[in-house]
Amino acid sequence: MFGVVQGVGFRPFIYRLAGKHRLHGFVLNNSQGVTIHWEGEARSIDQALAAMLNSPPPLAKITSYSCREIEPNKYSSFFIQESLVREGIEALIPPDVGICSDCMRELQDAADRRFSYPFTNCTNCGPRFTIIRDMPYDRRQTTMNQFDMCPSCQAEYDDPENRRFHAQPNACGRCGPRMELWDHMGNIVNEDPHRLLLAGNILAVKGLGGFHLACNAMDEEAVDRLRQLKKRDAKPFALMAADLETVRRCCRLSAAEEEQLISPVRPIVVLQQQDLSLPQAINPALDSLGIMLPYTPLHQLLLSPTLSLVVMTSANLSSNPLITANKEALEQLGEIADFFLVHNRGIVNPCDDSVGAVTGGSWQYTRRARGCVPLPVHLRGKEMTPLLACGPNFKNTFALTKGEKVFLSQHWGDLDNYLNYLKYEEAVPKMMSLLDIKPELVVHDLHPDYQTTAFAGKLCRDLSLPAHAVQHHHAHMASCMADNGLDEEVMAVICDGTGYGTDGAIWGFEFLYGDYGSYSRLGHLHYLPLPGGEASIKKVDRMAYAFLISTLNNGVKQQAEQVLPRLGTKERELLDIQVKRKINSPLTSSCGRLFDAAAALLGICSINKYEGQAPMEMEAKARHSTDKGQYYRLELAKNGDGTFTLNTAALWAEMLEDILAGKEPGTLALKFHWAVARAIIDGVLHMAAVTGLDKVVFSGGVFQNRLLTAMVKELMAETKIDEYLHRQVPPNDGGVSLGQALIGNEVQKRCV
Ligand SMILES: [Zn+2]
Ligand SMILES: [Zn+2]
Repeated sequence: MFGVVQGVGFRPFIYRLAGKHRLHGFVLNNSQGVTIHWEGEARSIDQALAAMLNSPPPLAKITSYSCREIEPNKYSSFFIQESLVREGIEALIPPDVGICSDCMRELQDAADRRFSYPFTNCTNCGPRFTIIRDMPYDRRQTTMNQFDMCPSCQAEYDDPENRRFHAQPNACGRCGPRMELWDHMGNIVNEDPHRLLLAGNILAVKGLGGFHLACNAMDEEAVDRLRQLKKRDAKPFALMAADLETVRRCCRLSAAEEEQLISPVRPIVVLQQQDLSLPQAINPALDSLGIMLPYTPLHQLLLSPTLSLVVMTSANLSSNPLITANKEALEQLGEIADFFLVHNRGIVNPCDDSVGAVTGGSWQYTRRARGCVPLPVHLRGKEMTPLLACGPNFKNTFALTKGEKVFLSQHWGDLDNYLNYLKYEEAVPKMMSLLDIKPELVVHDLHPDYQTTAFAGKLCRDLSLPAHAVQHHHAHMASCMADNGLDEEVMAVICDGTGYGTDGAIWGFEFLYGDYGSYSRLGHLHYLPLPGGEASIKKVDRMAYAFLISTLNNGVKQQAEQVLPRLGTKERELLDIQVKRKINSPLTSSCGRLFDAAAALLGICSINKYEGQAPMEMEAKARHSTDKGQYYRLELAKNGDGTFTLNTAALWAEMLEDILAGKEPGTLALKFHWAVARAIIDGVLHMAAVTGLDKVVFSGGVFQNRLLTAMVKELMAETKIDEYLHRQVPPNDGGVSLGQALIGNEVQKRCV
């Protein structure tokens, strides 16, 4: 049996199946998975096999298996054989798993020996990846190695009939990790953390992959205080709800969303907010909430019917790395947290919460981390060259390949932040060793100044490896292809923020076609100037002004002044010169910037305090407009040679007219969304006519926009073209390393 079959209760499950079907023989873990030897009636073996394939243990994932008949050895019983010495590490490292219902029951049962024990776990749940130092995965290679099991725990661990048979992090209150509550000086306090939260305190809480900051989400004062203390951070806070009922009270919840909330990954699910009485500081100017259910017993113990909703936001400050150590938390959060809820089980692999949303009718990750990493993306029938794909510069994940699998790392964030870069640099060799992968090629982004490009160069020199540079949006395209198991020529629409183009411009609204080996650029948003370059991305008012004056005729200046009142005369004059003389004004076809500029014009947001703020606020406004069916013109201009550009002149002119007529911004935001959706479809139809292809992949961070994606799906339904969205990795830069890996692999194969 191949796949996730170790560390997930597979052998005891087989042991029990053998008992049920009166089979003899053995089961053992080998270097590639699990081997089963069954002897008995042919019919019984068939039945056992069917039962195994149809209802394996909840966390097992059988990716493939092979079966053959051999002469019986006449075993007199069924037994679990100790593991063979492993040469290659083929078995998959399991990801962390949200608490299971059995453990939850024990946690809440006053008669159980694990009543209220915050580190209760079993073979079906608990910490895995975040505590693993090295392979093979057993207790002495994890941060549980400092705890000796008590006789009761050991007996469970040794008993194949027990749910905790070989559960490596098995523990109880007598022998396992302990929780401590500290004040902000690090002194132990004897208080109930739950009661402290109810009293309005802010707690730093050590979870599975790092520290969170928590407070009562219904306590406006506490939420405001947390918002002020995290002042450089305007991002929406994630919430943790005691149960589904609480989630339903705050948000609309579909069956698909519920399924994600309760899945073993326990991601943060972005939901449509319903209860408007929640403190506004949770998600300023947005209409959605990111909610998760408790995924460890420790979290569960913080919640109660009187405290059913808490803020549970990453404790790291202004895009710094996750905080994982107790002392570090005390040093960095001393001014924010009133108390520290810590424990003595170490975190070796930091891991953010996974985040996603049901987008265009199906689940899409925006961050694939806790609960997913290090599970690979499987490429059926495609044998990969072992390689390292360094990933993008922002929202970084890197990828390693082995056989038919691509392993994406957890998120490292913005690598221009030196602390993040250090963590990244440390994680790459660690992951190579954990997965036992020795790369033969290093793939990186085409951008000459990215940290990842410098890192790739250094690694290639150190290990004498070849390097290959990949265009950012070709990587997006390849990522969505691999995500959907496509291996043929396809069309692609990439709606993204920033990517270095082959002509030196900043690309981002691209119409491509091709495969893993090569691509052509058939169309793009026409180039607009970005005065101040990437550094000015935050100041969206400036961008809107530059777009207007470079696209429309001179008369527009007065109107621009009117609709962008926050822009001072001096600033405007400077922009005039910069744009006219092309001083420090790189050209961009970015879709993200198009959204930024529109949001600024509509007066919705003038400064992006966090990435995507302006577009997210505009999406929220548009969603609540009832004025349907109207759209601006974002015109497709053909160049005669089959290529085209999208021209924004009519779009800006019509928007200005609406704004100056005093129309409601939500309506205009909706018209803008339809304009982009229609332009995407126009581009797809044009590409299909030119290339004769009938499949299109959609990738890029803009496809996190649920409103736009739903519109695109609606319009695509009227065409005869099949569309593909991301399913396993994010459409944003978090998924780019997957595409880099596929492209690198193809290049390597073609060279040989
Ligand atoms: Zn469990
Ligand atoms: Zn114990």
